[in-house]
Amino acid sequence: MRIVSVRVRVVSVPDEDLSSAVPGRQSKVRPIVTLRMRTDQGLEGIGIAFVPGGLTRPLAGTMEELAELTVGQDPTRIESVTAKLRQHAATLASSGMFTVALSAIDSALWDIRGKEAGQPLWKLLGGVRQRVPAYASGQMHRGVSNNDLACVAKWILARGFRYMKLHLALGDTVSPEQEVERARLVREIVGTHIKLGCDINERWSVGQAIAVGRRLEEVGLFWLEDPTRGDDYAGLARITQALPTPVMAGENNWGVTPFRLMLEAGSVDIAMIDLMHVGGISTWIKIAALADAFNVPVVSHIMPEFQAQLVAAVPNGLMAEHKEWTWNLFDGVPEIVDGDFVLSERPGHGLSFSPAFEHLT
Ligand SMILES: [Mg+2]
Repeated sequence: MRIVSVRVRVVSVPDEDLSSAVPGRQSKVRPIVTLRMRTDQGLEGIGIAFVPGGLTRPLAGTMEELAELTVGQDPTRIESVTAKLRQHAATLASSGMFTVALSAIDSALWDIRGKEAGQPLWKLLGGVRQRVPAYASGQMHRGVSNNDLACVAKWILARGFRYMKLHLALGDTVSPEQEVERARLVREIVGTHIKLGCDINERWSVGQAIAVGRRLEEVGLFWLEDPTRGDDYAGLARITQALPTPVMAGENNWGVTPFRLMLEAGSVDIAMIDLMHVGGISTWIKIAALADAFNVPVVSHIMPEFQAQLVAAVPNGLMAEHKEWTWNLFDGVPEIVDGDFVLSERPGHGLSFSPAFEHLT
């Protein structure tokens, strides 16, 4: 089989994520770079990538230049194709724009592989389970007032989620009392049976994380996410050792190496993997295996329409972050039943561009 054509486009996708129902949150339109890759056997693989801020045009340009290099190659020899792309990027091949662009290409190649095999990726890549817990994310953001928080928490509960998170690190100065009060408020509303996590977005020092983290123990958190800078492996390790609450980090790690350093240093109890930051499915699966060797479970960051399948495929998959940022772009996103992503039997990603975007992609 050979790749005969590639097409890269930028489309504006209205984000109707569940968090848009939260008071004060504006719905957004996100520029998404789409990739369609066709083969001489009539199979099509798709992938997407985006930058949460600007830099969409450089991303599209990078993806286009790389995707053109795949034409004529065998899409089932994924490591051979991506090795050529890494060679092309030379010294830029381990992070940044290259890696984000590569993630869409690698994902399209895996889509073709799945379609050729007639299997969904969750099955092709290991097939451990067909459903994975979805954790509700973004609704209980730090911008939501304590007054509105009760209503938002009930709203998430009513949608059947059993895993959810709130954001702490509320202001410029850390007030442990305010942090604990807010977490306690949520815990009282959702009950003790809910797996409640807390995201700090790297805003605390190591000392603050340990001090506030100890006080949060009474709330019974299922995880504490990014308590301090993600590249401070030793600092994260100190937090992990000091707190019984499982510490999770990794969403901003580029490729395998930072995960190796993190795992060797004992920095995390749970590794969080971002498909775009690690450069696609091939690397995602390698990181999951590496984490498994360290007895560490893995969680996906954003893009559940692609990554819930990966969490389902591997033995140490724990849960997948629920975000509907790009769901308007697709038909075939995973169903959510009783708070779980339930994966389909459709081959590859099981996704196609929705009719509204079909002609634009
Ligand atoms: Mg996070």
